[in-house]
Amino acid sequence: MTDKNCVFCKIVAGEIPSQKVYEDDKMLVFRDIEPKAKVHLLAVAKDHFKLLSEMDGERAELLKYMLCKIPEIAAENGCGNGYRLVINQGEDAGQTVFHLHIHILGGEILPW
Ligand code: 5GP
Ligand code: ZN
Repeated sequence: MTDKNCVFCKIVAGEIPSQKVYEDDKMLVFRDIEPKAKVHLLAVAKDHFKLLSEMDGERAELLKYMLCKIPEIAAENGCGNGYRLVINQGEDAGQTVFHLHIHILGGEILPW
């Protein structure tokens, strides 16, 4: 599924340029445009869904796939010494793009 008004669907489709660091048939990882750490990557599923509350079996498999790939991608991008994953859910958490994504933050000692 794609949403024609979604910025991350547009990035997946190549309609908005991004600095890609990893891509396969299921997921894309690219640099955040406003990095909050020395390394700040965004991992998105190519399939559009908004929130963890929309999870089903297929999406859970997709999320599992992404989580299994992330350690290697993080290590290859300067986070070999540790990194933090963040999934903002909803407005109170500051979620601004409603296409499920995992922030990968690292490349330095992170303040809590
Ligand atoms: P959220 O606040 O929804 O958890 O995270 C959205 C993230 O997407 C933010 O950190 C923001 O900087 C990033 N972002 C928003 N628009 C773009 C864009 O067009 N390109 C890239 N590379 N990152 C974006
Ligand atoms: Zn989307």
